[in-house]
Amino acid sequence: MSGEIKFFDQVNAHFDRAAAYTKHPKGLLEQIRECNSVYRMAFPIEKDDGSIEVILAWRAEHSQHKLPTKGGIRYDWRVNEDEVKALSALMTYKCAMVDVPFGGAKGGVRIDRRKYSESELERITRRYTYELFRKGFIGPAVDVPAPDYGTGPKEMSWIADTYQALTQEDVNGLGCVTGKPIAQGGVRGRKEATGRGVYFGTREACSHAGDMAKLGLSTGIEGKTVVIQGLGNVGYYAAKFFSEAGARLVGLAEYEGAIHDPNGLDIEKVMAHRAETKSILDFPGAKNLAKTSDALELECDILIPAALENQITEENCDRVRAKIVGEAANGPTTAAASERLYQRGIMVIPDMYLNAGGVTVSYFEWLKNLSHVRFGRMEKRFEERAYRKLLQAVQNMTGKTLTEDEIRGFASGPSEEDLVNSGLEETMVTSYERIREKRAEHGDRPDLRTAAFIVAIDMIAVTYGDLGIFP
Ligand code: GLU
Repeated sequence: MSGEIKFFDQVNAHFDRAAAYTKHPKGLLEQIRECNSVYRMAFPIEKDDGSIEVILAWRAEHSQHKLPTKGGIRYDWRVNEDEVKALSALMTYKCAMVDVPFGGAKGGVRIDRRKYSESELERITRRYTYELFRKGFIGPAVDVPAPDYGTGPKEMSWIADTYQALTQEDVNGLGCVTGKPIAQGGVRGRKEATGRGVYFGTREACSHAGDMAKLGLSTGIEGKTVVIQGLGNVGYYAAKFFSEAGARLVGLAEYEGAIHDPNGLDIEKVMAHRAETKSILDFPGAKNLAKTSDALELECDILIPAALENQITEENCDRVRAKIVGEAANGPTTAAASERLYQRGIMVIPDMYLNAGGVTVSYFEWLKNLSHVRFGRMEKRFEERAYRKLLQAVQNMTGKTLTEDEIRGFASGPSEEDLVNSGLEETMVTSYERIREKRAEHGDRPDLRTAAFIVAIDMIAVTYGDLGIFP
């Protein structure tokens, strides 16, 4: 599907729709829209059987208006230059949208990771890092990769280790990549961050009574029916946080197919079933659907595409029966389909906002690496003591006595994870308000995606102004 639809064109169609609402000079808009640098590489790796295979890979840096540039690395057999450019552009707009001070980048390695052993994947990752390093496409001040589809903490730790081996003098070397394991300089809460952000963002969208009334829905997440396509890191955690908030998961999809149960699916049991049988199909009590895309057409309140791009297209968008589409994946809805959903009164919460939790917490990890100190280390005990003093004063004033357990419950200082999650929540809440304000500024004419793009374009334009490049 992604072969027929040019992904970068789709992103640019969204961009153009939003740019028409702004008054920025044409040349400046062109500069923002263009993908600045693309490095395509081919390198050999030795397979376990001694044979040599040539691997194709890319890194695109869409915009260096802020440095470092930032964005994940995807391992997938469909990776191509158009996709990497489009995803790097989305990173630029995403970072600007949620006020994370990075430019946008994205990398991709064209492999089907299931066909490689762990040691082969390690050799591919280390060689890819070396190639990036040789051309100046990686470094804590230049370009900072992260996980994306098909990669995770293990690959990130190989990248960090390779980079550090090449740059012994760089005291900030660990900041060359984010999404690392905690023991290798990662930050607590990063793994769950994108899924948690998807939950926070959807919760914000569902908190406005007027907007919900237009959809025929009440406010809040509790009791809403949810369908999730893709149970990777993002989809799994989104499912978990929606369930914990009282939503009912009525449909789940993976690449082998989809399952449907209007009474609700238990995400942990589905994951255990998949680990055991290698498939989500035939889950007890649920109905099998032949294709993963069938899940997109299930009746529900909230549909969360959390897999790949170009899933909701002109071909199937009229069969979408959700009231809200929350884009957890990057680019799951084509420009034409997005417009059509809007006309049909379906609310689309755009990817560049909704899945920004990952890069937001990557930003926190990068800050941690540069500051060389765990969040909360300096203030945790100090705050605990301050709360205890306050509680003591309240007890003295009221004559009430709290037990030590109660005091401990009220007076614990924040851990790193508490602070990361609080920073993430703050980002998702305030960013949603910025989108709504921008929409209101334009008489509520633009949809949420267009409003989010306008916010991003305005932010980037200001930076170019600050740099003195454009008046
Ligand atoms: N790959 C993620 C995304 O698309 C995370 C990027 C990052 O943390 O740099 O947003």
